[in-house]
Amino acid sequence: MRHELLTVKGIGEAMLKKLADNHIYTIHDVIHYLPSRYEKHHISSIHGVNPGDTITIKAVITEQPILQYIRKKLTKLTIMATSENFSFKIIIFNREFLKQSLYTGTEIAVTGKFESNKKTMTASEIVLARNYVEGIIPIYNLDNISDKIYSKIVKECLNQSSLFIDDSLPSNIIKNRGMLSYNETLNKAHQPMDEEDISLISYRIKYEELFRFGLRIALLKRINESYYVTPKTYDLVKVKELIASLPFELTKDQKEVTNDIFRDLKKNHPMVRLLQGDVGSGKTVCATIASFAVITGGEQVAIMAPTEILAYQHYQYLTETLSPFSVSVSFLTSSIKKEERLRILKGLETGTIDLIVGTHSLIQDEINYHKLGFIVIDEQHRFGVEQRKKLRLKGHNPDVLLMSATPIPRTLSITIFGDMDISIIQTLPAGRKQIQTIVSDFSYIDSVIQRVICELEQNNQAYFIVPVIEGRSTSDLIGVQELYDILIQHIPNQFKIEILHGKLKNEDKTSILDNFYNGEINVLISTTVVEVGLNAPKATVMTVINAERFGLSQLHQLRGRVGRNKLQSYCYFLSDSILLGNNRLEILEKTNDGFEISKEDLRQRGPGEVFGSEQTGIPKFRMANIIEDESLLDIAFEDAKNNLDSQDLKMITLVKNTLSSIENYHLD
Ligand code: ADP
Ligand code: MG
Repeated sequence: MRHELLTVKGIGEAMLKKLADNHIYTIHDVIHYLPSRYEKHHISSIHGVNPGDTITIKAVITEQPILQYIRKKLTKLTIMATSENFSFKIIIFNREFLKQSLYTGTEIAVTGKFESNKKTMTASEIVLARNYVEGIIPIYNLDNISDKIYSKIVKECLNQSSLFIDDSLPSNIIKNRGMLSYNETLNKAHQPMDEEDISLISYRIKYEELFRFGLRIALLKRINESYYVTPKTYDLVKVKELIASLPFELTKDQKEVTNDIFRDLKKNHPMVRLLQGDVGSGKTVCATIASFAVITGGEQVAIMAPTEILAYQHYQYLTETLSPFSVSVSFLTSSIKKEERLRILKGLETGTIDLIVGTHSLIQDEINYHKLGFIVIDEQHRFGVEQRKKLRLKGHNPDVLLMSATPIPRTLSITIFGDMDISIIQTLPAGRKQIQTIVSDFSYIDSVIQRVICELEQNNQAYFIVPVIEGRSTSDLIGVQELYDILIQHIPNQFKIEILHGKLKNEDKTSILDNFYNGEINVLISTTVVEVGLNAPKATVMTVINAERFGLSQLHQLRGRVGRNKLQSYCYFLSDSILLGNNRLEILEKTNDGFEISKEDLRQRGPGEVFGSEQTGIPKFRMANIIEDESLLDIAFEDAKNNLDSQDLKMITLVKNTLSSIENYHLD
């Protein structure tokens, strides 16, 4: 039989294949593939434009464009133009190919921003004026099919079929929330007439996405509440002794967090608490106090960290802090030798080890715990749902403390963790100075080196971070060795520079870090193995090369490696992409607030990229955005919760389908 789609005007065998590659197989599929967003193409007048706004204007080129090669992988095209009798200069980076089609007299539509004096526009896009279409353009984001072509196909399909689709949402909800029906949505979504259409369509699509997700969260919460455990006991006198032995007074927030945890330990539901606190806020000591309490009650504790380096650092700290209180602490990672490993396995099984610190080695199948009562997962977002679950299952519904330095906005935390409890450390320990941060292009390296030398002379230390181990001639990325070669030429040779990266043997990594901690190494060049948690108090300069390669939250984490003492610290993010008009990193100069930064990062990259989509368990929404649609999310979640037990037939079906998709659910 002839394929249904081949009866549609404009679809041939080639298009059929392309559609199939996008999982579109029928006319029904075509119609239901809704735009993920809309673009408003609009030509502005150059007069009355505000500097800093991104606009599109029509202009005529008045001189032959000039192309300059600035350095490796960086070109600049300068174009003189006029628009409505106003002459100005356009610059655009890394579009050398445009030169071939732009001549004196060419009419263009240029999108970009004017500087304050309106003499120069930094452009992000230039097209020939005749190719620029004004109006509302649906954007479908399909592979290998342009939006223009797809719009035509949809129009044909809509003409050809008169589908009536039953709404999956209960009619009372649609009515209460003043939404379009699904049929109305379909009819308008592909060819909206005006802004009002767009907002009605988006409202309905986003609402439904968030409602379905809210239903899932509400059901998960019900399941969570059905677990019971015996409340924990602990020796409060000993706990107080431990707190008194610390070299500092706990901050107010640290005290509150610790109290939150202690309250949870006494409950008959397992604790699942997220401890959020910016880099350097002192989360470790809270986890240490809680762990000790559980141990005084005769149960074991496991602390899992994402990297060997970080785990080892925790191990050292915990041994130092808890050994005086006769706690037996062990360390387990994949590099622990066989004999020692067997000894540890036995100790865990018989209960002679109270506290184990390690990497994901802690969740291997052959590891059994005598009585695992408490779990701490540091930098929790670096672990997958499965890994966290596996560790939980090593105990009998143990209490779980998750820690993260990447603050999660409220909406996102509900969506990731459902009803998980959250404690926040807002204020850093007293006496810390604001880190001075500069975002610049690579030519700033000379000033960075001057600063580094000056700090080294005062007995401080410096980190340099590069995105890759090996730089490639085909890209502008700088590798560890390349940077080493640059630094060694400028930094006096009484200072020792060392390279650290993920491919080194574990014992080499450990010895390099030990030597950095004890001050024998002054400058550490590294890939992001140092990203999380490292604590070298004498480091005062952090420089990240090719900073555009990192997410904002990650850069903020890296910045947190310095400023861990009372000295003034400095942080440099170098990236040539800021010359290309990409100011993505600017916020790092403006604020040190990890919460604000993570919000911006989420806005720029989305939760899947920031936290890893597997970790978050957040579905990929077509249109809804968990950060930007916060108030709609609240409404949709509220409706989902309130309608959970509704007898409306559509609601019953929705609940049933959602439950069947989470049948094998365990707390993660
Ligand atoms: P993070 O929250 O990033 O894991 P850490 O727990 O590593 O932070 O603590 C950062 C540093 O601050 C450590 O050197 C720690 O000893 C110190 N610190 C923690 N709490 C306090 C406090 N209340 N007063 C002073 N220093 C503290
Ligand atoms: Mg930490």
